[in-house]
Amino acid sequence: MKKLSKFKAAMFDFDGTVTEKGSVAPSEEMAKILYKLAQEVPIAFCTGRQKSSFEEHGLKIILSNVEPSKRQKFLENLYLISENGSIGYAFNTDIDEYEEFYRVLWPENFVERKWLMDKLSVLTEGSGKVYYDKHEVVIVIGSRYHDEDKDIRDVYATSDKIYGIVVKFLKEVSENYEDFITVGNSGIGVVIMPKNGNKDKGIQMFGQLLKEKNGIDFDSTLSEILVVGDNPQPGGNDHDFLKGTYGTPYNVGEYISDTKFPLNVYDKNGTKLLHATGTIRLIKESFNSID
Ligand SMILES: [Mg+2]
Repeated sequence: MKKLSKFKAAMFDFDGTVTEKGSVAPSEEMAKILYKLAQEVPIAFCTGRQKSSFEEHGLKIILSNVEPSKRQKFLENLYLISENGSIGYAFNTDIDEYEEFYRVLWPENFVERKWLMDKLSVLTEGSGKVYYDKHEVVIVIGSRYHDEDKDIRDVYATSDKIYGIVVKFLKEVSENYEDFITVGNSGIGVVIMPKNGNKDKGIQMFGQLLKEKNGIDFDSTLSEILVVGDNPQPGGNDHDFLKGTYGTPYNVGEYISDTKFPLNVYDKNGTKLLHATGTIRLIKESFNSID
């Protein structure tokens, strides 16, 4: 008999968590495992990317591993929290499309989004690229090297540099900027988001929707939601996602924290497993029916 998992849902950061470090798309093995997992429990991707980028790089490969007869059922169990927690999408079977189930607004009264984008575009010129048209709530500055065929270490270093520039400028705008805005470093770029539109909000809203829509019962901290990411360090774009306020968080990134959460993933020899390798191991350990 199958042993039941303690988890009733799962959430995954995308880049560096579902994908290996430096890859744009998940492997076929990962796609198959995610497909199997979504047959059992609702799953959500919680990413700095916007919906179209996720559809192109994530959903396409996963769907290519889904039998046509199971496509609809699979999409119903797959959720997307995009723009680092600012917008949530759920599949609407009536229109056969993903539809927003929540959206957080940019704090225009604190600082105009367009003005900030223009300023940061000038300040990060040479290292970063502000994505003007793709994101609807957050501001994303990609490491300039991201689009080119560069050593991933250069991409990460550039991302750190951009993060420093953004934080310095926001402090000049207001010493209290963190009351309104959160800045997250994903390693391939920097996301600037409304304070209440971070990945932590994504877990709360996902849990709430599953309670209302699917009648799933969760405890008050939603600990029956498995949460996986790779940037839990202070300033990382999974910091709020993995701090343990909601969900049971696991870290598949290199950073080791001295706090209770996030937990780590190890192989049988006690070696910490990273990125997609760690995520696959964790899914198999957490859901016995998946191998
Ligand atoms: Mg990541």
